[in-house]
Amino acid sequence: MTKINYHIHSTYSDGRASILEYVEEAARKGFNEIAFTEHLAIRPGSMKKLYYSIDVSKIDDYVKEVREAEKSLKGLKVKAGLEVDYFPGSESLLKDILGSNDLDFTMVSIHWIGEFCLDCVKYKKAFQIAVREEGFDKFYSKYLKLLGEAVESGLFNVIAHFDIARNWGFKTSNDFKMDELMILEKASSLGMVVEVSSKGLRNPVNEPYPTRKILEYCSSIKIPITLGTDAHRLSEIDSNYDSIVEYAKTAGYSELATFDRRKLTLAPF
Ligand SMILES: [Zn+2]
Ligand SMILES: [Zn+2]
Repeated sequence: MTKINYHIHSTYSDGRASILEYVEEAARKGFNEIAFTEHLAIRPGSMKKLYYSIDVSKIDDYVKEVREAEKSLKGLKVKAGLEVDYFPGSESLLKDILGSNDLDFTMVSIHWIGEFCLDCVKYKKAFQIAVREEGFDKFYSKYLKLLGEAVESGLFNVIAHFDIARNWGFKTSNDFKMDELMILEKASSLGMVVEVSSKGLRNPVNEPYPTRKILEYCSSIKIPITLGTDAHRLSEIDSNYDSIVEYAKTAGYSELATFDRRKLTLAPF
């Protein structure tokens, strides 16, 4: 049986614990494989990283440290990934950065719509006002447009927290959108993977990402999944882990995707 957590942030980005601390904790909690997914967040046009991003010049050190940490504990696989913020027009910048290192995989995230951060407490009020003014459907469409562009770019292996735009608890008027379906079809044709994330269970929406409808659709078109808790501290390494295992199984999944130098493998869980 495979127990994996494919979404962990260390102090290389905005996490609170070191790589080695997580590795030791993961071994204690019975994981077979974990993956670090440091944020990479750079707006095109400026080479300035956002405050929660890894420094581009540190990516090689980061990958090296992950490889070393893996050697320190027998029986635990440890992978190096990046959770990359997609901004419109950032394709060529990201191509350069992502093509020049030894990462196991990349995940794509939409955290920003324009100047507006989706899951930052600082923006919660502004978010609620914007949604009240334009309606959540319209807002969610903007989010999905960006996610669609990101998938289209072909730069990424995994879609992180597919519908995180719902994090403050807003619901769309239909529970399944045409745009979502098209994104998933495209992702499937590119051999991408969707993350099942327990982060939503710590957010006001209080549900995993993605919704059950979306996950069941993924299952029906055989898009592989990973599991992730989006850990930013040691205590989050197995946050609601059993819930997402159960959630994925009841949506029809019996295998999990893992990556080694961009090569995908499926293992039963
Ligand atoms: Zn994220
Ligand atoms: Zn994350």
